[in-house]
Amino acid sequence: MDLYDSPGQSRFRAGLRTWLAERLPTGPGTPPGRLDPARLREWAKPLDQAGYAGLTWPVEHGGRGLHPVYQGIFAEEWAAAGAPELPTVIGLHMVGPALIRYGRPEQRQRHLAAIRSGDQIFAQGFSEPAAGSDLAAVQTRAEPVPGGFVVNGEKLWSSYAPLADYCLLLARSDPDLPKHRGLSCLLVDLRGPGVQVRPLRQINGEADFGSINFSGVRVGEDCLVGERGGGWPVALTTLAHERGSFAITLVARLSVQLDRLVATAGATGRAGDPIVRQQLAQLHVERQALRFTGYRALSGGPPNGDPGPESAMLKLQWSHTHQRLTALALELLGPEAVLDGEDAFWSGYWQGQRLRSRGNTLEGGTSEILRGLIAERVAGLPRSR
Ligand SMILES: Cc1cc2nc3c(=O)[nH]c(=O)nc-3n(C[C@H](O)[C@H](O)[C@H](O)COP(=O)(O)OP(=O)(O)OC[C@H]3O[C@@H](n4cnc5c(N)ncnc54)[C@H](O)[C@@H]3O)c2cc1C
Repeated sequence: MDLYDSPGQSRFRAGLRTWLAERLPTGPGTPPGRLDPARLREWAKPLDQAGYAGLTWPVEHGGRGLHPVYQGIFAEEWAAAGAPELPTVIGLHMVGPALIRYGRPEQRQRHLAAIRSGDQIFAQGFSEPAAGSDLAAVQTRAEPVPGGFVVNGEKLWSSYAPLADYCLLLARSDPDLPKHRGLSCLLVDLRGPGVQVRPLRQINGEADFGSINFSGVRVGEDCLVGERGGGWPVALTTLAHERGSFAITLVARLSVQLDRLVATAGATGRAGDPIVRQQLAQLHVERQALRFTGYRALSGGPPNGDPGPESAMLKLQWSHTHQRLTALALELLGPEAVLDGEDAFWSGYWQGQRLRSRGNTLEGGTSEILRGLIAERVAGLPRSR
């Protein structure tokens, strides 16, 4: 594996770095300011115009057809610049690839360009009150009627739902079939009649996700992705991309977080503390292991293919390392850790990160589920059930 950028990758990295530097008031090493969520949409259009949206999508679908290594470079530069997380990520990294693989030509026409430009923000409507880890247990009904479906039910924890225009919905269309075969995926307009989105406030006070209620919502046949009853493979494709693309992004962000933690140790006068030094060194070792596992997954994977089960290892290890990193940050702050807002160190940046990190071992598959997947698909153990 060659760890150096090729000339083309170097040019790409340098171009993106300049592009970001022209747009961001902050520089590397500065904790990111929180942008007004409504303003985040404004980032999507210029990003698309500059050719940075849909990097790995095939050219015939409006992407650049680049190898996933470029997505990794993008993630590293984005994180290093302290750029904000974009609300277009579910569309770009999950719904887009699913539509490219399973969508009809009219669906691709209707959504792909709008996903890239940020005109359509997508949420993922999979989890329900009684269907999280056991996703195939979803109860939301998509009852087939002439010309389409009528949807009734509730989805929970949908990231970006309060901002989103559409959701990719996993619903039960055929309750009499075995549970994995009775599911269908639909593209649902969240602004339409019968849909109610409620923001869910998290422990850190923010509302990045929400619940979506569907009450007698009519969805046309033209919004069915893949076959009726063929929703499960579509869902699996989006989940593989969620872990794959996000794992690379999260590892890049973790690397920057660790630099900030080292800066925090210096600023709080704890950099000479032998116990703190041990903990920082351990986190550095884990960062390097994550980085190189990420590089191996990127360089070994098929160009533009679905991410493999290694992405589950990255996501699992990242979430635990990140939780320890944010816990150490609060330890470094000592009694000041209880402060919040303007009075707190870096305006409460670490407090927000620590609270948000609690969800890391749940989102995109809990640690127990990921260990089960790794046991079967990486270590080759027999299926548990
Ligand atoms: C920050 C955040 C963002 C999210 N964003 C989205 C989103 O955008 N869209 C979406 O659809 N969902 C989203 N989710 C929901 C997420 O996918 C679920 O929380 C997750 O799948 C777990 O489901 P659950 O909460 O119902 O827990 P459960 O499935 O009820 O699990 C409860 C506990 O039992 C354990 N457990 C369950 N089954 C097994 C098993 N077979 N073996 C061993 N242990 C098991 C779990 O590991 C967990 O500890 C998000 C969640 C969070 C925290």
